[in-house]
Amino acid sequence: MKLPIDKFKDLRTPFYCYDLSLLRSTLKVINDEIEGYPFVVHYALKANANPVILNEIVKTGIGADLVSGNEIMAAVEAGFNPTRMAYAGVGKTDWEIEAGIDNDIYCFNVESLPEMEVINEIAARKGKTAGVAIRVNPNIDAHTHRYITTGTTDNKFGIDIPVLDEVVEKAVSLSNIHLRGLHFHIGSQITTLEPFRLLCEKINELVEHFEKMGVNFEMIDVGGGLGVDYGNPEENPIAPFHEFFNVFKQGLKLRERQKVHFELGRSIVAQCGALISRVVFVKENSIKKFVILDAGMTDLIRPALYSAHHKIVNLTSQEQEQDTYDVVGPICESSDVFSNDEKLPITHRGDLIAVLTAGAYGESMASRYNMRDLPGCHFC
Ligand SMILES: *Cc1c(COP(=O)(O)O)cnc(C)c1O
Repeated sequence: MKLPIDKFKDLRTPFYCYDLSLLRSTLKVINDEIEGYPFVVHYALKANANPVILNEIVKTGIGADLVSGNEIMAAVEAGFNPTRMAYAGVGKTDWEIEAGIDNDIYCFNVESLPEMEVINEIAARKGKTAGVAIRVNPNIDAHTHRYITTGTTDNKFGIDIPVLDEVVEKAVSLSNIHLRGLHFHIGSQITTLEPFRLLCEKINELVEHFEKMGVNFEMIDVGGGLGVDYGNPEENPIAPFHEFFNVFKQGLKLRERQKVHFELGRSIVAQCGALISRVVFVKENSIKKFVILDAGMTDLIRPALYSAHHKIVNLTSQEQEQDTYDVVGPICESSDVFSNDEKLPITHRGDLIAVLTAGAYGESMASRYNMRDLPGCHFC
């Protein structure tokens, strides 16, 4: 992504810098890949709900993938079309379900029987019918961090295959539920295509199974999860969408008029954002050198939460030689570390540091812990 360092000098740090032209190229690649196929892409707002970013995404006709009532409101506000909104989550409260129904969203991705009954009740009370997809837990290991694995039986998401018949029958029987299809989302930051291939096989089996029971689905939602290259963002600024969509073009046996929905978050916005920070101090103890930034886990929690590693660059050092540093934040938590043993050009107080690939699950997960200000944002 572009990093206009000259413009950064006078800005208050830390802040997120977003490269909107990279975002636009990414969106164009996606729309080119799906053209001519019965594919609908939703953007997962939880990755980054910055209004400027939403505005760029809305313009391309992409839909929204939502996980809370406030996200429904933000998507409506940003101008997403409700016929392209899907709402997932294991704990939808009554007001959130009402928000979905009042806004006539395309689909609730239902994660349990009690939830489906409540959606039916609320829809009935409003004299409406709610579109529903059943979120299936396909028990596929996405081979990613355990906190971002969502499609195995030991986690809270979706409905297990052994009880799926019962739930599908229930959905068909409820008068204010319109069953649209099945939904899957097996995890995030998935960097091999194999889990998606396995997912296609599982989907084909299930579609055939339910067809035999007389249930036909208008759509299959395969979720998101496509990973990005955190190690080499400069070489791979755009996720491998061609290969990703090909898995589904080749792997899914679609029925007539059946659509495939995708819910991509990270792969759309991760590479277009960097967290820009200033070195407050460089500190040495008997065994280590620390670069202490004015950005911390309150601005970007992924390293602390998922042991994620982001590429770090010193934007302003003129030094030719490198040294090894632990790059840390100022927060009173030992997990507030961006990277251990990071090789950087010799670094000084006042240097500007960029933490790359921070456009997804960065700003959206920022907190005010330690009563810190939220990070700013600038666009380029
Ligand atoms: C978070 C989430 C997504 C997006 O996942 P990415 O890994 O960011 O693509 C899609 N669908 C659901 C249901 C989600 O919870």
